Amino acid sequence: MKASRDIIKIELTEEFRICPQCGYELGFHSSFLQEEKGYRIILICPECGARYDVGWRM
Ligand SMILES: [Zn+2]
Repeated sequence: MKASRDIIKIELTEEFRICPQCGYELGFHSSFLQEEKGYRIILICPECGARYDVGWRM
């Protein structure tokens, strides 16, 4: 697998749909990563597996 396991921080602009790592254009899967005060919502590229943190918490 070519994708690193690091979570890449992303500043959201108008739309975040295209994976910056591989160019996949059809959006992301999501996962929820537990941290001290809740969860981080992590977006995962279904094509290359790159993980992105767009700053969402729940
Ligand atoms: Zn990708």
